[in-house]
Amino acid sequence: MAQSSTTESGAQLTSSFAVGGRDLDTPVQFAKGVGPRVASILEKLGIFSVRQLLYHFPRRYEDRTQFARVAQLEHGDTATVRGVVIAADNVKTRGSLVLTKAVVEDGSGVIVLTWFNQKFRKEQFLKLRGKQVIAYGAVTADRWGLSMANPDWEVYSEESDPLASGRVVPVYALTEGLFQNQLRKILRGTLDAYASSVRETLPEDLRDRLDLMDISQALTNIHFPESWEAMEAARNRLVFEELFVLQLMLAMRKRESQAPGAGIGFRRPESFDEELKQLLPFDLTGAQQRVIGEIAADMARPLCMNRLLQGDVGSGKTAVALAAMLMAVRNGYQTALMAPTEILAEQHYLAISRMVESLSLLGFSVDLLTGSLRAKQRREVLERVASGETRIVIGTHALIQEGVDFQRLGLVIVDEQHRFGVMQRAALMDKGLTPDMLVMTATPIPRTLTLTVYGDLDISIIDELPPGRKPVKTHWRNIGQRRRVYEGVGQVIAKGRQAYVVCPLVEESEKLQVRAASELAEELQSKVFPDLRVGLMHGQMKTDEKDRVMADFRDGKIDILVSTTVIEVGVDVPNAAVIVVEDADRFGLAQLHQLRGRVGRGEHQSFCVLICEGNSEDSIKRMQVMSSTNDGFVIAEEDLKLRGAGDLGGTKQTGEPTLQIADIFRDIGVLETARKEALETIERDPSLASPQYASLRKTLMQKHEALQLVAVG
Ligand code: ADP
Ligand code: MG
Repeated sequence: MAQSSTTESGAQLTSSFAVGGRDLDTPVQFAKGVGPRVASILEKLGIFSVRQLLYHFPRRYEDRTQFARVAQLEHGDTATVRGVVIAADNVKTRGSLVLTKAVVEDGSGVIVLTWFNQKFRKEQFLKLRGKQVIAYGAVTADRWGLSMANPDWEVYSEESDPLASGRVVPVYALTEGLFQNQLRKILRGTLDAYASSVRETLPEDLRDRLDLMDISQALTNIHFPESWEAMEAARNRLVFEELFVLQLMLAMRKRESQAPGAGIGFRRPESFDEELKQLLPFDLTGAQQRVIGEIAADMARPLCMNRLLQGDVGSGKTAVALAAMLMAVRNGYQTALMAPTEILAEQHYLAISRMVESLSLLGFSVDLLTGSLRAKQRREVLERVASGETRIVIGTHALIQEGVDFQRLGLVIVDEQHRFGVMQRAALMDKGLTPDMLVMTATPIPRTLTLTVYGDLDISIIDELPPGRKPVKTHWRNIGQRRRVYEGVGQVIAKGRQAYVVCPLVEESEKLQVRAASELAEELQSKVFPDLRVGLMHGQMKTDEKDRVMADFRDGKIDILVSTTVIEVGVDVPNAAVIVVEDADRFGLAQLHQLRGRVGRGEHQSFCVLICEGNSEDSIKRMQVMSSTNDGFVIAEEDLKLRGAGDLGGTKQTGEPTLQIADIFRDIGVLETARKEALETIERDPSLASPQYASLRKTLMQKHEALQLVAVG
């Protein structure tokens, strides 16, 4: 099929990369069945090229060699059913909130699909009456009959669809305006046209030795596996490659940064401790002091610092970051702090500007750089950064974009690291000559993983919370107890505190997510708390709107902030003493722990209430873990255990994955192999010069051309 309109010159340029001459960098618009309209939808998923389309892996799979029969389902099963929609309605629960029910019938029996606080589902399902849907989820059986809460579902196409029936069927992450069947067809066509053109990265002897599929086979089978075994083999190969490439980069980077003279040797100014004391409105904890000492000593060495700072939520990492920044600035260097969300970047910006103003650091401006600056503002900030007038820049991903040039970048700090990939870290470092780097994370990473995944980093740990903190009390409640929960929230607010309410996670689309959040806010305002001030915040609001809401909340002008997970990381309002998480079983442990970290940040006793039914063993376990401990390390270990056991579709519970297919929890065995192979490879051939590594080297270079990791030639 020659439907691709790859230009001749385009094909030639990359012909050395592609066996059959097919250019994987062809814009996705030219893939079969795409075109400009669908391309613009795919772009929302980050898919711009054919290559990215081929690497848009299924979120999970369904075994459609067989659907479960409703009559045979039992409580606790996880199953896929197919049936006709016969009715849909909204029902008030005792907690005065809304439960949507859609009744589906498959010839053997009836099952009710349920959603909590997503009123719009009623319309959605009424329109589907008489049509077939497929639903996947955990089954509850009680005296009301069978039900499935928050199922994954799709409309079943009537005409027989060979890609979606009688086999292991891929289920993809979608976005508004894109359908499973459509994406399956597009991928099938694209694989047929391009799979054989994908360049093999792994040397043959390595593939033989480890029994790994070749790349085109792997891509074909990850999307349309012949069997579960084929899917596993394909996945294994792709996971290995991803981790192997990552480990090679880490090994090469480490080798480079350890070369004497490879980095800046900062002097610790005499007045350092005194100045720091002036900057901070509190005394440092012992752990903060120790960690600052470690960082200062490391910065003083003329090597590249590569350090991971771990500290549980609320342990006071920002103050440590500030200390490192102070040291860099006092040595005449610039420093950049990259945060994962705009809200967080802004919060850091406000806090740091406030502190810096109080010192004689005035005269150096502190600037904020995010994607939502207006063109003129952005230009001004970029000028100040390039001229060196700005000494401290705080921002989001916008910091690593082209056009951001520093005069003398000496220290890079990356906050909440699990949100960023190794690539992004590296891209930011590349803005300086040989800047030191500090990576901060609140998600404690079990030690085994730290060694393997962050193998290039040294580690500092803050293992002590600031004094006077009362541990957050966590309660798990079911939907029937909701009204009582909100009564309790009302009482805490009456004492002058504030509350967060996190709304249910809607994975299908951002728009529906926003709707769910708005409906919940409206409901709480009109029915539950008519006398209180309820605010709303979600990811689709403009930055200045979010700012305004966050500022109002911080200033106490909002009592209850209903929000999506945009508040997950880092938001710091010490007067907030309650967080209610609706449909808590939709969230993973690490995410719940992060959310809980939004409260308990001041002297007030704080509470976290998790609302859900506990429909599967897994979710019950998660609720129990959350209710029984506040220790981030324990939670991380439990997370590892739970995820190691279940989650076979390779779905990710957190937002932006750092890795495309590998799951560092589940794939720890592969990770260890990949690390061992990578270290041996670099040992043998530090710059991958031998011909058998030519293709591998190209992959590494492509991944981050600008990084000069690979000594070319
Ligand atoms: P995280 O580690 O989660 O980023 P933050 O740096 O945001 O934590 O600190 C959490 C809260 O604790 C902030 O309100 C901060 O001002 C406060 N804090 C940090 N260190 C101390 C300390 N040594 N004594 C008292 N309060 C502190
Ligand atoms: Mg923080």
